[in-house]
Amino acid sequence: MESIAKNMSRFIELIPAHVKIVAVSKTKPNEDILEAYEQGQRIFGENKVQDLVTKAETLPKDIQWHFIGHLQTNKVKYIAPFVSLLHAVDSFKLLNEVNKQAKKNDRTISCLLQFHIATEDTKFGLNMEEAKAILAEERFKDLKNIEIGGVMGMATYTTDEMVIRNEFSQLVSYFKELKATFFKDKEGFKEISMGMSGDYQWAIEEGSTMVRVGSSIFGARNY
Ligand SMILES: *Cc1c(COP(=O)(O)O)cnc(C)c1O
Repeated sequence: MESIAKNMSRFIELIPAHVKIVAVSKTKPNEDILEAYEQGQRIFGENKVQDLVTKAETLPKDIQWHFIGHLQTNKVKYIAPFVSLLHAVDSFKLLNEVNKQAKKNDRTISCLLQFHIATEDTKFGLNMEEAKAILAEERFKDLKNIEIGGVMGMATYTTDEMVIRNEFSQLVSYFKELKATFFKDKEGFKEISMGMSGDYQWAIEEGSTMVRVGSSIFGARNY
């Protein structure tokens, strides 16, 4: 079996320098995370609040923790003191709560707007109309303790390359339109989080700036 250290160092070499790697460590123990950490990896992604809190408490303090899952508003407070990026923000209500908790912690929290680009039915993720409605809201301007760092999306679970590439390219066009309309002068609006173990190469070719890779680094998850 390939070791985590080997997988991690291979990824660090393989991925172009302008693309950030989020090592998705969900369900994996601390010793696995440390193995990747020792190769120089500093960005890790989790999708359960309790796991993220426990890991952040016990692992090195220079890790940047990204929350990549759906976040319930009542749990924002647990990760607000330290989380470095929220990947899956898809409502004004959540943005408002993140702003409130960020303010309490005297910091700014970066958030990506999650778009629904896949064909599968899911209640998560925005369409363009909904995203524009949020950004155009008067109340949005009052949220001084959040920063919108870009967009995030997940492609359809399929092996069909064209389907996946089309969805990624759709996300890139959403990014460009939002950039031109709402974030022209905002340098912070720059990330396109797309690409996982099965499709990161296509994602990078389509314009990803951030890939979220789990099983290709840590091995299959058993849940
Ligand atoms: C689990 C997960 C990933 C990583 O998936 P792999 O296929 O293991 O690389 C990426 N993004 C999100 C949102 C996830 O939940």
